[in-house]
Amino acid sequence: MSDSILTGDRPTGALHLGHYVGSLQQRVALQKKFPQTILIADMQALTDNGTDLKKVSQNIIEVLADYLAVGIDPTKTTICQQSALPALAELTMFYANLVSVARLERNPTVKNEIASKQFGDSIPAGFLTYPISQAADITAFRATLVPVGDDQLPMLEQTNEIVRKVNRLADKHILNECKPLLSNVSRLPSVDGKNKMSKSLGNTIMLSSDEAEIRQSVKSMYTDPNHLRVSDPGQVEGNVVFTYLDAFHPDSHYVTQLKSEYRAGGLGDTKIKNILEECLQELIRPIRERRQVLMSDTSYLLGVLKAGTQKAQHVTSGVAQEIKAMYGLVL
Ligand code: ATP
Ligand code: MG
Repeated sequence: MSDSILTGDRPTGALHLGHYVGSLQQRVALQKKFPQTILIADMQALTDNGTDLKKVSQNIIEVLADYLAVGIDPTKTTICQQSALPALAELTMFYANLVSVARLERNPTVKNEIASKQFGDSIPAGFLTYPISQAADITAFRATLVPVGDDQLPMLEQTNEIVRKVNRLADKHILNECKPLLSNVSRLPSVDGKNKMSKSLGNTIMLSSDEAEIRQSVKSMYTDPNHLRVSDPGQVEGNVVFTYLDAFHPDSHYVTQLKSEYRAGGLGDTKIKNILEECLQELIRPIRERRQVLMSDTSYLLGVLKAGTQKAQHVTSGVAQEIKAMYGLVL
């Protein structure tokens, strides 16, 4: 069996540098080798934005523009919309009966997100159960490889538990287990170094940022608080500027050299920030320019999404049909 790839993003905002190194770069490379689907997870985005009528729909187009601007090719990758594929919602309902509430509450990513979103006693039921809908997405596309950041590993574990349960119940192989594909930078920190860079936390450098925004973000970046004078020895570990240089600078030998100069003392924060800024400006400029052109033709972007979604109907409804048949419900 050849591998098949599913990834996705929540349209809660335009995409950022964390997406770029954590997942987008890999997707661009993988689309040449494997059948690949990207799901714009609008239903999942609503699980913590259910009272906002505009946010999710407005961001679909932003995310689409980001995909094409970084080099996702819609003739190679199928891009589709979660809420327009009813089989995904059907599968979610079936799988929900195979997962306990306690298991969902133990999911470490869900636990962290609940804490950081400060839901208190008002956790939306849809939010607690979103790992089930993610399992529906992955299995509905018969995906075997899922390029993700490391925050998604518990989701894939939970997906595989559901897969094994279904296959045991059916007493045959209906669903595929999946494997994560982690990039070298599977959790890019935010500029302040406190959290993972994340749309919902508002701590991002966007792929659509202009020059001034990039400059400002790099200026405010967390370094080593004890590195007061240029001549002081500085710490590289936990220093966000070096984490970003590792992630984005094309010349790793040069970065190693900078690190040893910084550790020894004599290399100032302004200098390393200037080097990083130049590298991020060069990375983002062409993406931003392509993005601007794409955003001027939203009907083209929506056409790409419609065509991809139509293509995805067949495989997803086939899997839902198999689960219904397992329960003897195809009458
Ligand atoms: P939200 O705050 O709305 O959850 P997000 O920024 O976490 O948004 P998602 O749409 O949830 O983005 O994530 C899409 C993909 O990008 C996932 O595979 C996720 O692991 C990856 N990803 C997100 N943020 C980062 C990051 N900072 N570093 C590496 N990968 C990331
Ligand atoms: Mg997220």
